[in-house]
Amino acid sequence: MAEMTSSMIVPVIDVQNNNFKELWPAMLLAIKTSSFIALDTELSGLGTRKALLSESIEDRYKAICHAARTRSILSLGIACYKKQENKADDTYLVQVYNLTLLCTEEYIIEPQSVQFLVQHGFDFNKQYAQGIPYYKGNDKGGDVHGQNMRTLFVELLRARKPLVVHNGLIDMVFLYQCFYAHLPERLGTFTADLSEMFPAGVFDTKYATEYELRFAASYLEYAYKKCKLDNYKFVEAGGSGPHLFLEFCNYTGHLRDYIDYRPCSEETSQEGPLDICLRFSAYGWCPSGSSCPMSHNTDLIIQQDEKTKENKRRKRKQKRKKAAQEAGAEEGDSTISSKRPYLEEQATMDNQGGSVTETTSVPGAELMKQPRGEGETMTDIHMSSDGGNDGNGFCEPQSVPADGATESHLTTGTTVAQPKKAEGGTHRAGFDAFMTGYIFSFACIVKCSISETLLPECQNKLYLSGKSIPLQVVKSSFSKSSKAHIHKMEFVWGKS
Ligand SMILES: [Zn+2]
Repeated sequence: MAEMTSSMIVPVIDVQNNNFKELWPAMLLAIKTSSFIALDTELSGLGTRKALLSESIEDRYKAICHAARTRSILSLGIACYKKQENKADDTYLVQVYNLTLLCTEEYIIEPQSVQFLVQHGFDFNKQYAQGIPYYKGNDKGGDVHGQNMRTLFVELLRARKPLVVHNGLIDMVFLYQCFYAHLPERLGTFTADLSEMFPAGVFDTKYATEYELRFAASYLEYAYKKCKLDNYKFVEAGGSGPHLFLEFCNYTGHLRDYIDYRPCSEETSQEGPLDICLRFSAYGWCPSGSSCPMSHNTDLIIQQDEKTKENKRRKRKQKRKKAAQEAGAEEGDSTISSKRPYLEEQATMDNQGGSVTETTSVPGAELMKQPRGEGETMTDIHMSSDGGNDGNGFCEPQSVPADGATESHLTTGTTVAQPKKAEGGTHRAGFDAFMTGYIFSFACIVKCSISETLLPECQNKLYLSGKSIPLQVVKSSFSKSSKAHIHKMEFVWGKS
């Protein structure tokens, strides 16, 4: 399994203050010509976790607002997916940007977040030296036409593209506060504003994973790798069904210096413990972190889930056969159920140590932006800069099967050099945005969204941890738009 999913290499363009203006036209073009855009953020903290998971959604919103007013976005990942119409399969041209940001106002940075980010290769020196500056809240006049984060966000709105996030309520609230306007007091106003800001819809791949794809787990890395595996199986099966292909630009000249070429899967799949950590397996997060003696290897976890599914299928088949023999019809069992109920049972059962509360706090783990691939050893690979091509241009796209099934595809036109530097998973926001977009495009294929709207089942639904219903991004008849938003919309749509 490691071999068949390891060959795709994703170029992530590193955007910071000293190349922001240079890359501006390319980013704008990528945004304007895309079919949909996936976003992800890295935050300086979230405040008390308990408030973020309160029973009342209105209270949750208040807690996230408080966090967004007092904390900041440290980096923003933007992945632009453009459907290639002339291709037979579902082929997307993908451009991934990772923006390092610096909030110029005071903000809280939590020790917990610092530790986590540093462990995962976040470079605070670089952030302070080269972060793209921004201020929060309402426009302050002056630079509303310049090239800055607020105008980039306005351009994103003007593009009217479907916006894709993973477990994205927190991302949406932070984006609003950091690049758009002061947050409205009420949740109904916020969702009304959002529905007008993104008329092509907001999509949450965590919701899509749980309710449409129905995978055994829905944390980002699991969902992404499971999509990649299923896509590979479609290709293997040879045939009739459509499958996903990705293309990346072949960057040349000094642009290459801004890019990290990131392999999609680690090669070390078979190393480390073989016993799977149940908690990590279900939630993508475990309180023991990297000191957990059990395996947090997502590849291994998916492999085991596949086996479990196959066994269940076989048993069902036998059962059905037997039932048929007894002339009794049996109702069709649905897909594999979530691992969570099982895990919660387990936790209650082996609760001699008294840690049952962990199960209730864990569903929010993904809120903390912590779960993504603990125990993962991703390394960044730099391309050799031997190509004497001097243009700062984007050459013709280079085709890579989205599952990495055919190596030959990859080797054409690229020279993958030996790793120049190895950092633990930097540019997470960019790569996380890429994974989010991948899940979305795969879900679109599986659900056969032939209509103009991509994945209508998931349109304008944001995932809510621990709730069976999503947050609807709508303007209801009794919710009003916020003043700041109305003013802002005149600026966004009024001119240009
Ligand atoms: Zn663990």
